[in-house]
Amino acid sequence: MARYRGPSCRICRHLAEKLYLKGEKCYSPRCALERRPYAPGQRSMRRRKVSDRGLQLREKQKARSTYGLLERQFRRYYREAVRRKGITGENLLRILEMRLDNVVYRLGFADSRKQGRQLALHGHISINGRKADIPSHVIKVNDVIGWTARGANSEIFKVVREQVTDRSLPSWLSLDSEQMTGLVLSPPTMEDIGAKFDPATVVEYYSR
Ligand code: SF4
Repeated sequence: MARYRGPSCRICRHLAEKLYLKGEKCYSPRCALERRPYAPGQRSMRRRKVSDRGLQLREKQKARSTYGLLERQFRRYYREAVRRKGITGENLLRILEMRLDNVVYRLGFADSRKQGRQLALHGHISINGRKADIPSHVIKVNDVIGWTARGANSEIFKVVREQVTDRSLPSWLSLDSEQMTGLVLSPPTMEDIGAKFDPATVVEYYSR
């Protein structure tokens, strides 16, 4: 299945949830869901009644869209979450949150997960001093996320450097804004993540 390349705001409007896919725009009055809080192609603000299965599907789509994943990748993470000890929904969320593109976003090195993915793909990001160009790489505790020489010479780096200290950082990460590196202190807690979807409902969707 191909990656969705249409407008990100359409996804939020379809799912009736702000998924914060567009960086700064999401925090401004320009947010498409705030300006047009109804599904694309629909004139009325009334939404159709959804079945239990439909609700599960919607939560799964929210989760998948939040992290910008294909169904195949997402299902693989679900299987890994089932395999691990503990609560499957929480395991799933932790795996998603520890992806490199998400950590780059959480550190404030990128405006969105999509941009975090691009930074990694373009060879701008390093893990423990080594280039890391696979956005799906799952980070471990004590890993240090930084910039490669190529990244540090890029235009985006100059912009990020100016802004990075203004960002609020989750408690499982620490940032050295001088060195422009981030350290993973612990696995994220559910409170840290503040997911816009219910992981237990996502698990229900797959376990049927
Ligand atoms: Fe979603 Fe952000 Fe677009 Fe608003 S601006 S609809 S939160 S992607």
